[in-house]
Amino acid sequence: MKSNSNKITYCPVCRNKLEGMDSVDVLVDHYMCQNKHRYYHPVEEVFTHQTGAEYINLRYAADDLKEVIKAWLSKADYRRHLNNQLAEILRVYLDIKENIYSIEAQKERRYKYCLFCGETLSEFETNDLYASGLRCKNDHVYHLRGCLYPKDEKSSAQLCQYMDYDFFVRCIDNFLDNKHFKEFVPNQIREILLTIKSESSK
Ligand SMILES: [Zn+2]
Ligand SMILES: [Zn+2]
Repeated sequence: MKSNSNKITYCPVCRNKLEGMDSVDVLVDHYMCQNKHRYYHPVEEVFTHQTGAEYINLRYAADDLKEVIKAWLSKADYRRHLNNQLAEILRVYLDIKENIYSIEAQKERRYKYCLFCGETLSEFETNDLYASGLRCKNDHVYHLRGCLYPKDEKSSAQLCQYMDYDFFVRCIDNFLDNKHFKEFVPNQIREILLTIKSESSK
């Protein structure tokens, strides 16, 4: 039995040290390596049914767009009504504005190294249709379902790579165009997405 004291130490893409960083988003922890591969792990997940209904008109009053976005991410009573993927879009947007988002770095998506010991990961088949398995020679085992889920760790130990730029653009379109999302994207966030979209198509 391994202890659950494993500490996230290595970047799974390039094996450099992963450092914890300050995060504007109160519901995620945030990591980066020196090659600007960025990751987060959710401290608390927000699902769509927690975001709609009376929260649709929730609005933070400020003139500056960045200030409004930071409020939605950093104030728990706003953030709890923001779907996780919407929150990620907003974080990426802020990072782009602050020149700390590397389009090139986020293009590398393959998890090759163990988070805990840095050894090479090799794939194995799982009986979960939606997950593949990865393991290192020291028997650290992971399931890969979009994010990397270390087995034998509490589920909150998952590590997710920031979305790449193409996906960022597609996600914004999806939230704006899909009529089912109308009910749970707060109106102020919809307006922000429209602004981001017009800026990024310039
Ligand atoms: Zn890295
Ligand atoms: Zn390992």
